[in-house]
Amino acid sequence: MKIAMIGTGYVGLVSGVCFSDFGHEVVCVDKDPRKIEMLERGEVPIYEPGLDQLMAKNVEAGRLSFTMDLASAIDGAQAVFIAVGTPTRRGDGHADLTYVMAAAEEIAKAATDYVVIVTKSTVPVGTNRQVKHVVHKANPDLEFDVASNPEFLREGAAIEDFMKPDRVVVGVQNERAGEVMAEIYRPLYLRDFPVVTTDLESAEMIKYAANAFLATKITFINEIAALCEKVGADVKQVSKGMGMDNRIGNKFLHAGPGYGGSCFPKDTKALARIGQEHAVPMQITETVIKVNEEIKRRMVDKLLDLCGGSFNGKTVAVLGVTFKPNTDDMRDAPALTIVPALVGGGAKVRVCDPQGRREGETLLPGVHWVEDPYKAAQKADLLVILTEWNEFRALDLKKLARKMAVPNLADLRNIYSVKDAKRAGFVAYESIGRSGFV
Ligand code: NAD
Repeated sequence: MKIAMIGTGYVGLVSGVCFSDFGHEVVCVDKDPRKIEMLERGEVPIYEPGLDQLMAKNVEAGRLSFTMDLASAIDGAQAVFIAVGTPTRRGDGHADLTYVMAAAEEIAKAATDYVVIVTKSTVPVGTNRQVKHVVHKANPDLEFDVASNPEFLREGAAIEDFMKPDRVVVGVQNERAGEVMAEIYRPLYLRDFPVVTTDLESAEMIKYAANAFLATKITFINEIAALCEKVGADVKQVSKGMGMDNRIGNKFLHAGPGYGGSCFPKDTKALARIGQEHAVPMQITETVIKVNEEIKRRMVDKLLDLCGGSFNGKTVAVLGVTFKPNTDDMRDAPALTIVPALVGGGAKVRVCDPQGRREGETLLPGVHWVEDPYKAAQKADLLVILTEWNEFRALDLKKLARKMAVPNLADLRNIYSVKDAKRAGFVAYESIGRSGFV
């Protein structure tokens, strides 16, 4: 089967590469000439573990190619996936559907034979029907169906998530489109991965409901963590005890500096907006959005306390700025709130991140990038662990403390313990939801 994939971002590229690995012929399209040139040279424009090898394997096998020419990509394709961005629209929190609708129109103008137009991007309920309308208007003679196939992969573990999904969600309006989708996902059906087939609206809703639920779970434990600090409880023990209850589960119960990334912030805002539009306010989600902002601000206060009330003239080393480990994605990362507060407050900030520099250089002006955490700590007044990269999980804390002017540690991912910090010679240690020491 031939598949065209529109958009070669985190979702489009991973999906395209994995579909080609299933044995399909896949042509990936992007408007960005820089990305297509890199891909044609065999370079991966994003950091995603394992993607370069899988891509090379399928290019070599002749199943995977890249182009800027949408018409040639969809020529003979039975399915065209739309995997373009749906960022938050300025001003109202709504998902910006400009890229989705533009792609739909381009597909309509180029397609000649029956094709299933599949939306993989995260889109508000009703968008697939809108896509259908846009395509029909642009090419009334075209025979086509639309399908909703939201993506649940996590950056940093994207290939594993795509190849071994908890479930695949497919929203269709008729059997014909359902059969094309079944053919695409046949390798997963064969290995007994569940495929949930729904109507269009339910598929669209599943994605927002799932992301809002996960964002709520994270925010819940973050709020519990704040209370733990006041009452002398340890949030790590609390979440362990909670997570052992099968009804709750231990995933997404790690307290931290607030959720970020390319999905949760924009999808919670979009769900809140959809609720407002239908006069069914999403009160829980609206509260989660507000609390998450407060949590990020609370982190700044924590750092301020460790710096004696002012960042002015202090040297601060920040380890990790991407929104989570194993990605170079900086979209809505807590670092984008915390680092500017440090710089704005007059601190000299050194940043170390295994993959964040390329994106971070423009997003975090005024910081000094270093390759090595020990160099970052040199004569610093405060060391902040902001992203739990493996590289930062087994640091020689004694060596770090020795290098610092004032050995203060803010471990915003709870990867070390009070005991570790004390033994290493830190004079102050703060983490999330646990009593530290000063
Ligand atoms: P992205 O911004 O990384 O990539 C989008 C790509 O689409 C860009 O390369 C852009 O140049 C290209 N593009 C835009 N319009 C185009 C057009 N008309 N023709 C060809 N190319 C075009 O986005 P992403 O992170 O991959 O997210 C894509 C969608 O998937 C979003 O709706 C997102 O919410 C959803 N999603 C993302 C993730 C994730 O982890 N990033 C997970 C699940 C779902």
